[in-house]
Amino acid sequence: MRKTSTTLADGRELIYFDERDDVERDAVDKRDLPPPPPASQLRYDALVDEWVAIAAHRQTRTFLPPADECPLDPSRDGRQTEIPASDYDVVVFENRFPSFSDRPVELPEGIVARPAHGRCEVVCFTSDHSASFATLPPSRVRTVLEAQIDRTLALSAMDGVEQVFCFENRGVEIGVTLHHPHGQIYAYPFVTPRTRAMLAASRGRPVYSELLASERAAGVRVVASNEHWTAFVPVAARWPFEVHVAPHRRVPDLPALDDAERDAFGPLYLDVLRRFDALFGVDAVHLRVASGPGAQRPRREPPAPAALQHPPGRQQAEVPGRLRVRHGRIHQRRRPRRRRPPPARSRVTAGILSHTAPRFRTWICA
Ligand SMILES: [Zn+2]
Repeated sequence: MRKTSTTLADGRELIYFDERDDVERDAVDKRDLPPPPPASQLRYDALVDEWVAIAAHRQTRTFLPPADECPLDPSRDGRQTEIPASDYDVVVFENRFPSFSDRPVELPEGIVARPAHGRCEVVCFTSDHSASFATLPPSRVRTVLEAQIDRTLALSAMDGVEQVFCFENRGVEIGVTLHHPHGQIYAYPFVTPRTRAMLAASRGRPVYSELLASERAAGVRVVASNEHWTAFVPVAARWPFEVHVAPHRRVPDLPALDDAERDAFGPLYLDVLRRFDALFGVDAVHLRVASGPGAQRPRREPPAPAALQHPPGRQQAEVPGRLRVRHGRIHQRRRPRRRRPPPARSRVTAGILSHTAPRFRTWICA
């Protein structure tokens, strides 16, 4: 794999991850872009001992553009996009509308607040707009994994970053604003609430390893497995369809996966994804988190290094009755209303993020 770093017109970093070593990346971003927005604010919510990111500038982000205006396509035929090259394998770049960045910000007086310093990156899985993660070959899944590992290492070394969180949303029901197959990486300046709860609950014990061992022994909730990974339905699933994909060896984060484990992930994960798509008959809406508590410092017992969660939304109605599961609170519309979407589910799941000033803030967490 060849890694080439470049700078976009407004100073943001973009990195190509190429599967061939002989690719030259010298295309220049010629767009006339405004300067990036200031950093968001972190305000302290004393009621639940959590930090809330106020990222009002994200209201102006690109929202469901038509396919011929997709900003994640390569730059071709005179149309300039976020990716200057005319083709690519996997690309990572700083989000133009980030919830966390290292830029200055003016903080209000009289409240407990600090700059939301950190970083938000976009990961494009393929230059093919109409593809999906499930249609990628295992070799590309490995390249995406290598890019996530590279970024986990780099972002966790940044000052102030407490946790790195890789995820993918698919489907407008879950807050996606661009259809091009892509994921995101959030480098948080705090440990997210769910991870903090999992760490507290573990009390230093390898809880996830114990859970995985018992699921593999019981077998009744195991969906698929190979030599290095097992996909299973957690006994206390919070989503109508939820599958965890976990490595058999206890590892602290994605970078700790060895070569054989990295190779074995793609085939198993693609198998699970394609089963979901076949079950629903359409592309399943999903949230995927590579919850590598990853770059949490100091490193402690992590939750699952990789997890997959599927909320079916209205698709659940298309599932045969005997397979239908009703629990949790999932209220989704297949067709979105033309309004700004809520923060993507993963961010609400992982931490707390608001796109509006608190005066009119709506509580979105389901
Ligand atoms: Zn596209």
